[in-house]
Amino acid sequence: MTTYTAPIEEMMFLFDNLRDNKNYNQLEKYKEINSDLVKDILEQAAKINQEIILPLAKIGDESPCVYENGIVRSPPGYKEAYKKFIEDGWTSLSCDPKYGGQGVPKTVSTFFEEMLSSSSLAFKLYSELSIGAYNCILSHADDKIKEKFLPKIVEGKWSGTMCLTESQCGTDLGLLKTKAIKQKDGSYKISGQKIFITSGDHDLTENIIHLVLARTPDAPAGTKGISLFLVPKLIVNDDGSVGSRNGVNTGSIESKMGIKGSPTCVLNFDNSIGYMIGAENKGLNSMFTMMNLERIVVGIQGLGISETAYQNALAYAKERKQGKANNNKTNETDFIIKHADIRRSLMNMRSIIEGERGLAFWLSQQVDVSLNHSDEKIKKSAADIVSLMTPVIKSFFTDMGMEITNETIQIFGGYGYTKDQGIEQLFRDNRITPIYEGTNSVQAIDLVYRKILNSKILEEYISQIDEEIKNCKDNKDLDLFLERVLKYKEILINFTSWLKTKQSISKDDISSACNDYLKVLGYVSLSYSWLRMLRVSYEKMSTNKSFFEEKINTGKYYFDKILPRAESHYIAGITGSESTMKANFN
Ligand SMILES: Cc1cc2nc3c(=O)[nH]c(=O)nc-3n(C[C@H](O)[C@H](O)[C@H](O)COP(=O)(O)OP(=O)(O)OC[C@H]3O[C@@H](n4cnc5c(N)ncnc54)[C@H](O)[C@@H]3O)c2cc1C
Repeated sequence: MTTYTAPIEEMMFLFDNLRDNKNYNQLEKYKEINSDLVKDILEQAAKINQEIILPLAKIGDESPCVYENGIVRSPPGYKEAYKKFIEDGWTSLSCDPKYGGQGVPKTVSTFFEEMLSSSSLAFKLYSELSIGAYNCILSHADDKIKEKFLPKIVEGKWSGTMCLTESQCGTDLGLLKTKAIKQKDGSYKISGQKIFITSGDHDLTENIIHLVLARTPDAPAGTKGISLFLVPKLIVNDDGSVGSRNGVNTGSIESKMGIKGSPTCVLNFDNSIGYMIGAENKGLNSMFTMMNLERIVVGIQGLGISETAYQNALAYAKERKQGKANNNKTNETDFIIKHADIRRSLMNMRSIIEGERGLAFWLSQQVDVSLNHSDEKIKKSAADIVSLMTPVIKSFFTDMGMEITNETIQIFGGYGYTKDQGIEQLFRDNRITPIYEGTNSVQAIDLVYRKILNSKILEEYISQIDEEIKNCKDNKDLDLFLERVLKYKEILINFTSWLKTKQSISKDDISSACNDYLKVLGYVSLSYSWLRMLRVSYEKMSTNKSFFEEKINTGKYYFDKILPRAESHYIAGITGSESTMKANFN
């Protein structure tokens, strides 16, 4: 079984030193979220994750969910763990106190998301989509629906799903067929089949609240004719009690390569009763409230799994003896951690993980501002930055998760490939993250076409990087890092200009460069994250020398060994698409 210790010191380093967004610091509702409180939350979170949730990863993998006689059963131990999970209030952490939540900011709940992903992604998914459903209902439903459904979701007694996918419609939601017919009482009857629905059915909660995309009879074709409906598994009576069964049935569950403890369901909606959320034909906009926040969380899944992979690779490298290191003149064999190549691999992981965590923390402050600030202009500007960075966090972190879990298997050698140590499971579990919530390639296309070519958000982001560069100018120790940030920022700007010049010439050139562009933005963003952490590390050196020296060394590794990858993506990206499109695949 894999081991995991929550990286609380790393998280507190960020919370204590890099909560520097002045708009975030103006948020009245988070004034009382101080360092002692956060440390306490993280310690409690670490306890439940390390002791109760981590063991569920292996159990779920070896005894996956079962579908029998129309009922889905979760793996052994999941029910008991979920009961404790909700009794301790973990589903309500970031929710509004008005509906029973604890009102903790994203700056803190994101750390919890990371811990859960590190412990067991399959277990996490049961509550993750509930929070997505909560966000969507909170933003778009009327008060009656909110009051009826939100408290139970917040409490964790009911869970939520997101039902978009159909067999003919994955990425292209315009192909969606599920129908919604209005009834005299204002409700709708929903009919159609949804596939691949995470937590579509299970035995952990007394009810499941499905958020379903469907078309009304006269809806326009394509994505402009999609509406959003709330469809409970069991009808909820006016007094809030659970009533009879709605017409939602589970057809089957998928057999998958990873996250086997999470049921991925075929759901059949047969004249099931549903309630429209938001305006007719505007369902996709409402669903995107859920999906955008959810995409950041998927990025955090990649980060969390990477952390577990790194910790296990490190522990193994310290206990496995093979060969002799370069400077070993004795007859003794060395632990493999002495080999420069193993150290390189561990430092790749560490420098990416710490950079990602810093970036996620910076973005969490932007998310909190975008959701809560009283000044609409500030709110909008933060929301713009969040929308620019969402595809980056989602795709870059999950792609790096693939690289890191792959490197971990390599460090374990044959013991990584075989099942005993649980290492190959990390790779398999992470493999879904670049696929669901919009594939990584489609995220890259969204980034370029919607956020780079048709808006000025990148300029706003670059001005934030410039601001940080100014903050660092007086510290000579940072000169080398500043030089690199400036160089790679220039590469990002040049790549952006190249994309813009191609707009009227070749869409294929642009489309074939999107993935490379997202990588450049990802690596440059991590250099920004590292610059912030390095500035603080030099400033605070005297308070914790060993911690900050290590941080500086890891940052230096990032700038020396990882950031240059951005240049090769740039060079490859701007060669255009001629050979790609000319290829004969017959
Ligand atoms: C375990 C699991 C859990 C899931 N959970 C849910 C859930 O809870 N709710 C839900 O609604 N769905 C869920 N899904 C579905 C998931 O979101 C889809 O699988 C995903 O959106 C991709 O759709 P698809 O599989 O149909 O692939 P397709 O859309 O057919 O894509 C196939 C390939 O083509 C590429 N592609 C597609 N369009 C373009 C384009 N325009 N340009 C370039 N490349 C393109 C894609 O990147 C991909 O590589 C889940 C899937 C799995 C496997």
